[in-house]
Amino acid sequence: MARSLDWMDRIACGGIPGFTRLPWPAQLKLCNVCEVRAECLEFGLETSDVWSVRRQGIVYGGVAPHDLHQMLKQRARNVAACQAPARLQVTAQLPHVQARREDLVETVTELLADRQTPEAIAARLGRTTEAIAQALHRAGVDTLAPMFEAAARRKLVVCDTDARRVVAG
Ligand code: SF4
Repeated sequence: MARSLDWMDRIACGGIPGFTRLPWPAQLKLCNVCEVRAECLEFGLETSDVWSVRRQGIVYGGVAPHDLHQMLKQRARNVAACQAPARLQVTAQLPHVQARREDLVETVTELLADRQTPEAIAARLGRTTEAIAQALHRAGVDTLAPMFEAAARRKLVVCDTDARRVVAG
């Protein structure tokens, strides 16, 4: 059954421009007065990537990124143990997700304008070029995604070549 997302109408960070770009301790201060921390945390655990929360300083439900990372790892272990993955189906229209996507698009656009390569941008954001391409597509920025897809293909070619060298050697 689809979970209600009505709580998103009451998020304390909803009207704060650039909230997700604040250092996480500053984000937590606002979380402390937020009335929907429990719902936000559950949402974060359902929708976040275990490896990106710590690298990107992501906060949900008043939980610091390193603690969120640990919770996600534990949850992944539990899911694997019972073989019942239960990720919430999320639409691109959700404000929290949408805000993070807009942040990503803005950051990527700025770094490209600064003549950073897709590989350098991916390393800086702690994500793969393929993941960034997918995120850009989901955000509807189809014009920027191809250069990250090309970078991902280049990486595959290099990996494949390296693997052949190892086998041949
Ligand atoms: S991140 Fe979650 S808990 Fe923190 S202010 Fe926003 S909605 Fe509330």
